[in-house]
Amino acid sequence: MSAVIDIQGVEKTYKRRIKALRGVDMTVGDGEIFGLLGPNGAGKSTLVKIMMTVISPSKCSGTVLGSKVGDKATLQQIGYLPEHHRFPPYLTGRQVLEHFGALSGIQRKQRKAKASELLELVGMDSWHKDKLGSYSKGMRQRVGLAQALMNDPKLVVLDEPTDGVDPSGRRDIRNILTHLKNEGRTVFLNSHLLSELEMVCDRVAIMVHGLVRTQGTIDELTAEQSGFVITTASPITDAMKSEISTPSMPDLIQSSSDTTISFKTSEASAVQPAIDTLRKHNIVIQSAGFKRPSLEDLFMQVVDTNNGAKPGAISGAKATSRPSNNPTKGGANS
Ligand code: ADP
Ligand code: MG
Repeated sequence: MSAVIDIQGVEKTYKRRIKALRGVDMTVGDGEIFGLLGPNGAGKSTLVKIMMTVISPSKCSGTVLGSKVGDKATLQQIGYLPEHHRFPPYLTGRQVLEHFGALSGIQRKQRKAKASELLELVGMDSWHKDKLGSYSKGMRQRVGLAQALMNDPKLVVLDEPTDGVDPSGRRDIRNILTHLKNEGRTVFLNSHLLSELEMVCDRVAIMVHGLVRTQGTIDELTAEQSGFVITTASPITDAMKSEISTPSMPDLIQSSSDTTISFKTSEASAVQPAIDTLRKHNIVIQSAGFKRPSLEDLFMQVVDTNNGAKPGAISGAKATSRPSNNPTKGGANS
């Protein structure tokens, strides 16, 4: 699988020494849906803006669609939905699409056809003559998503696409993302809506305080804490636990409480001796099955373990003396 986004060591220091990114490495494979997660202020939008050449990095190496980060010509192959976008309220949904189509250099006839196709895809065909000013937040996001697809992009970059969208709208957006993937496009999205990402993303990265703390498939990230869990109706004594631990199941118990035992294995056969032991002591088994932590569990763990330093701040004056952190190198937004 070739990489559509392959960036290393991305740093960004804004004015007033706000260090938003502190050396981000990220790889997004061709044709995958990749989710970037992180609490507010983690640096997600900063990273997206650097990839979209809206702002300049303080330091960055790597490529997007095979070209160096910052290459304007590559943008022709990328669709972008910015965070907190504000399209002119006096334009209709269709006009927004045609306007962005024109900016991308698409011929008039083709632009009209594409706008109709995309309005239907995002479920806005009935409202195409209404002005954006009369749209709900969810409707504006739908039009924003359609706008990002006008140039038939290979890579679609969406910054909080489900922001302000109701649950049924979020499901629609999820379906659209899967549709885009099925068309062979790569989708990169930022979101704080974890359960949504879990359903559509092939891989995720979790960013905290300007650094990617973990990335991989959800299975990979949760593997360590996944396994069989037995819950019982009556208390499991320490004696029973040690009977289970040795000699048949050494090191297999991950954690336990009065009425649960979590195992490190995902093999049902491996936990049968434990069930035998509990049954021998007349313990009623309430449930036994494979459990894996949710993306939310994982996210909270990563955020909690990395919550030490103040977000974005540079702790010592020395850190600013590095040439790569020179704020004058920044772009319009820096
Ligand atoms: P996220 O998208 O993950 O919420 P951002 O990338 O928007 O995070 O912000 C990361 C950090 O950079 C935050 O501390 C934010 O306050 C700061 N920041 C963002 N944009 C600017 C800017 N233009 N000037 C100064 N600081 C900024
Ligand atoms: Mg953001």
